[in-house]
Amino acid sequence: MVAFLAVPILVTAAAPAALAGTGKPPKVRTVVSLTFDDGDSTHPAVAGMLERHGMRGTFYVNTDTVGGEEKLTRRGLARIAKKGHEIGGHTLTHVRLTELTRSEQQTQICDDRRRLVSWGYRPVTLAYPFGSVDSDAKAVARRCGYDAARGVGGLKEWACPACPGAETLRPRDRYDIRTPGSIREDTLLRHMRQQILNAEKTGGLVPLVFHRVCDDCGLYSVTPKRMNDFLGWLKERRSRGTVVKTLKDAVGARHRPLPAAEDPAAAPG
Ligand SMILES: [Zn+2]
Repeated sequence: MVAFLAVPILVTAAAPAALAGTGKPPKVRTVVSLTFDDGDSTHPAVAGMLERHGMRGTFYVNTDTVGGEEKLTRRGLARIAKKGHEIGGHTLTHVRLTELTRSEQQTQICDDRRRLVSWGYRPVTLAYPFGSVDSDAKAVARRCGYDAARGVGGLKEWACPACPGAETLRPRDRYDIRTPGSIREDTLLRHMRQQILNAEKTGGLVPLVFHRVCDDCGLYSVTPKRMNDFLGWLKERRSRGTVVKTLKDAVGARHRPLPAAEDPAAAPG
């Protein structure tokens, strides 16, 4: 009796993936990571939108600003994490790391991660604020126990037509993972699609960088309608071997220990 029941369920479940007629989803060639910076108050809603599409994102938080105006609350952050999204670090106060001393960089990156850990998270990837990164910042990110870090830029977009369409699945530099430029209010649906199509030409990793998700709320925003349309389109790309993963899962980032709180900054090198 069980077998009779199981057959139609199996057929129904497999049908959407069976576009090629083989019944098997195609091999994964392109991995998309949807990343959301700055711990914005609009992020719980967009997390829900991702969930409705069967996707999970990566949310980069500045712990000093949590609970602030137009920012995530601790509760909102917890709700996002509980649904299986990745929580990553973005420095304490959203600083331009290349303008800081190494010791200041260490405070900004390590103390932020330490606080996320104290809140019960296991942050393993970092996003550099403004994508501002140098060799010191990369070394400090590593020292603070991050296993990978995301920059902004380096992949093909209007500002860099000659850039590659995708990061390699094993990133060239896992402490400076490349992306197209940040999604802005003037980034149209077709531009977002194009960033995926560019990546599909070679296959690889394409992390997209979002900030706010709301109507008429600044240059670094996308409307919920456009986001929803994009996610609906993106979901269908599975038939082309394109899937969505958190950045942590995309690069296989693992938990590494924090340094002792009183450790001085390591010597440069
Ligand atoms: Zn930021």
